[in-house]
Amino acid sequence: MNLIKTKTEIEKYVSEKRKQKFSIGFVPTMGALHEGHASLIEYALKHHDYVIVSIFVNPTQFNNSSDLEKYPRTLDQDTSFLSTYGKSVSIYAPTPQEVYGNQVVSKQYNFKGIEHVMEGTHRPGHFDGVGTVLNHLFRQVNPDEAFFGEKDFQQLLIVKKLVEIEKLPLKITGCPIHRQKNGLAMSSRNARLTPQQLEEATFIYKILKQVKEDFETKSAKTLRAWVTTQFKNNPHLTLEYFEISNSTHLRPLSRKRTHQKYRAFIAAFAGEIRLIDNMAIN
Ligand code: AMP
Repeated sequence: MNLIKTKTEIEKYVSEKRKQKFSIGFVPTMGALHEGHASLIEYALKHHDYVIVSIFVNPTQFNNSSDLEKYPRTLDQDTSFLSTYGKSVSIYAPTPQEVYGNQVVSKQYNFKGIEHVMEGTHRPGHFDGVGTVLNHLFRQVNPDEAFFGEKDFQQLLIVKKLVEIEKLPLKITGCPIHRQKNGLAMSSRNARLTPQQLEEATFIYKILKQVKEDFETKSAKTLRAWVTTQFKNNPHLTLEYFEISNSTHLRPLSRKRTHQKYRAFIAAFAGEIRLIDNMAIN
């Protein structure tokens, strides 16, 4: 398995593969790799000859400096985690300078409103940071297709818009959320939870499942009130937001329409660790 650290090296690696007519899949990550990331990599390997996994904790997408500082960084562990894939998977682990040049700043994007709800409201500047880093990484890695998890469903829609805005020649594919047996969505942030918090965090999944069950018979207003109460009665988790939104443009649901797809979204804190999850509910 290759570990590539510079822009020049990644560009050379990819252009050599392209000369040999190989296709390239790309899985951008912030590292602390887990089975959720592995599910994306395996999906990418099914469709491409070579897969590049970027590991880069992107400073411009963090609106909270302590969250950025404490984000797990485990490059050695990640390298051995990926070594089982052999030569078909390479890691691109650049420094901020390699990605951004001298100015580590965000570009400002207009994602047509998708950026103004949920994560966008609670993490100001987050999606400009995501868009900026991916614009740089897509240009450096130059893949045929990039794979993103529905775990970050809003991000997936943002990335599809980004590719349109920047006119980038690649396909964006969303992959299902990988969960632990008890339903908890896998996340690098889970590594910061205590064993007790890991157990308590399954509450988020249970609530989403109940919302899915009740969606046909109850109104969005009733479900929102029910979820708020459930979290108020839970001493271990603090709800940041709950939303039921249209899966295409993420506008909050007011009146259910036939043939429209909806998802339920939750962001909640277990102590100081922020967790997000979502589920298709019809
Ligand atoms: P991250 O390293 O958290 O930025 O995630 C990198 C990519 O992996 C993103 O596209 C995430 O949506 C995806 N991802 C993270 N956790 C999961 C999961 N549990 N299931 C599926 N995809 C995931």
